[in-house]
Amino acid sequence: MSDTATEAPEAPAQVPLVDYLVLGDSPHLVANECTGCGARYFDRRNACAKCFGTEFTKVDLPTEGTVETYTIVAFAAPGIPVPFVSAVVDLGGTPVRGNVVNVEPTPENVPLGLPVRLTTFPIGTDDNGTEAISFGFEPTTGAN
Ligand SMILES: [Zn+2]
Repeated sequence: MSDTATEAPEAPAQVPLVDYLVLGDSPHLVANECTGCGARYFDRRNACAKCFGTEFTKVDLPTEGTVETYTIVAFAAPGIPVPFVSAVVDLGGTPVRGNVVNVEPTPENVPLGLPVRLTTFPIGTDDNGTEAISFGFEPTTGAN
């Protein structure tokens, strides 16, 4: 007889959905900043699009910012709950694309300039029990 429920001895491992999300005690985002002109990128670059510099340094971004622009998405791929708020959030001058979560997805609840903070949440677990962690932004001002 084989026991199909093999238990991992340790807490479930977590992996960020994107490599610019850093987990741990204080989750935050990191950007690659061009040392030549200060332009910031989230994807890996061989050269800066603005000054063609090839030196980059990692910078931690603040976890709080404001909603710069957004779209309420009403239609998405099967399995993705709609509507949701797809936004660009200004984190200390760096625009970051992400969803606004923990809010009713209506224009009244998501005014431009809304103060938000980074939040992380599991979006799934693989066969080995490793949790995939994604991020979004929630309003810093609680209800009431
Ligand atoms: Zn540059």
